[in-house]
Amino acid sequence: MARSDPGDASDSPGGEPAALDLEAFRRHGHALVDWIADYLAGLDDRPVREPVEPGDIRARLPAAPPERPEPFDELLADLDRVVVPGLSHWQHPGWYAYFPAMSSPPAVLGELAAAGLGVQGMLWSTSPAVTEIEAHVLDWLVDACGLPEHWKTTGPGGGVIQMSASDSTHTALVVARERTRRLTGAPAESQVVYASAESHSSVTKGARVAGFGEVRPVAVDATFALDPDALAAAVESDRRAGLVPSVVCSTIGTTGTTAVDPVAAVAEIARTHDMWHHVDAAYAGSAMICPEFRHHLAGVEAVDSYTFNPHKWLATNFDCSVFWVADRRPLIETLSIVPPYLRDAASASGRVIDYRDWHVPLGRRFRALKLWWVLRSFGLEGLRSLLRRHVGWARDLAGRIDGHPHLETIAPTPFALVSFRHLAGDAATRALVERINASGRAYLTGSEIDGRAYVRVSIGSTWTTARHVDELWELIDTTALSLATPTADGDDHA
Ligand code: PLP
Repeated sequence: MARSDPGDASDSPGGEPAALDLEAFRRHGHALVDWIADYLAGLDDRPVREPVEPGDIRARLPAAPPERPEPFDELLADLDRVVVPGLSHWQHPGWYAYFPAMSSPPAVLGELAAAGLGVQGMLWSTSPAVTEIEAHVLDWLVDACGLPEHWKTTGPGGGVIQMSASDSTHTALVVARERTRRLTGAPAESQVVYASAESHSSVTKGARVAGFGEVRPVAVDATFALDPDALAAAVESDRRAGLVPSVVCSTIGTTGTTAVDPVAAVAEIARTHDMWHHVDAAYAGSAMICPEFRHHLAGVEAVDSYTFNPHKWLATNFDCSVFWVADRRPLIETLSIVPPYLRDAASASGRVIDYRDWHVPLGRRFRALKLWWVLRSFGLEGLRSLLRRHVGWARDLAGRIDGHPHLETIAPTPFALVSFRHLAGDAATRALVERINASGRAYLTGSEIDGRAYVRVSIGSTWTTARHVDELWELIDTTALSLATPTADGDDHA
């Protein structure tokens, strides 16, 4: 490859590598921000997922790393040559798969600023601003989302940013395990975790990593929400069998259909049986910035821990999962280990938060910066209007689906996920997903619930507009009509 700017890549006569030239960094940084803006502006003209076969991308990479410095414009050119052709464009306006990974310009700039600062916030003293901004922004979010006042760091509780909801849930499970061990003497192997059959796989994974004996899947009702009678029966049956009920996880907004577990009823059962109660609101938690969704929080004032992902639906790029505990003491007691090299006067004073004691990793990035910048750049009003648009479009789409002769929704649309199927059966439902995804204009997720196929449309890209949702509807409508004939194998539920 020809070097367009050899001066960029050579080491200086004084021996300094060109990669350390701050003037060049300034120039390249501007070029990179231009590139990102062009990428985002041009997404609508690309397929949602680039057509790529396994190994295609690796085949474009040299066998060995370069011995000599390469100029930055070649690195930038490889974003177009190597990286973009191998992407599924999560920020595409036609992205409706999984749950959103919503990002935004202020979040991207916050990420860049955090990388530029390059600080570690494991202790208050290793960068006081990292800890204090994080604690303050999470206290802001308590108010912004209508969460219980006592979760603030100014009270007995507190919030911390984790990498993912899986980490938050794992952390809650470890604290619960230790609490039960302290209270009952029961080893982890005889402790039981309860969560609905529709809870996210991260509950089972977290319980496995934490060493719990059993994860009991609890039956759900017709709306796919946890059935509290089934929970109470399972807890009592386990007690009779000599097991120790330890922790129950409720979900606000399940991955399958955004069902909402009855948090208040679960909290009552948790209280009766002295279990830790963790709430996973990974996706739907962002909606709580809008007061009209807060009825889903009923009972949350009695829970022990709660998590949601601004990196899903609050315009803050991955990674940014927020996690609160109602009482921070058991969390810190469980995770605090203080070798001599991590001791200092600020920690000993008891006047500061040392976030290393609030999760598994020691080192931690300045993730609060991007969340702080998102909240300030949009304002809560700006974020509310983004989310309300998504919910409005989703409910409108659900109405169109239910008015269609060959489609039906399979669950309510409390947030911005529409779950539906083709009335001609599973084969037609799966074909619908495949054909729409193959169009390159939209990307949906096919899944199964109760042994039947269905389609998930999750509206939540920052760049999706009403025009894109109308285009999606046209695709769904015409594809559904073309699949209306029942299949020969009798797969016909119409
Ligand atoms: N919980 C729920 C309800 C989810 O939907 C998801 C992911 O979609 C998760 C947990 C896992 O989130 P993360 O990727 O942040 O671990």
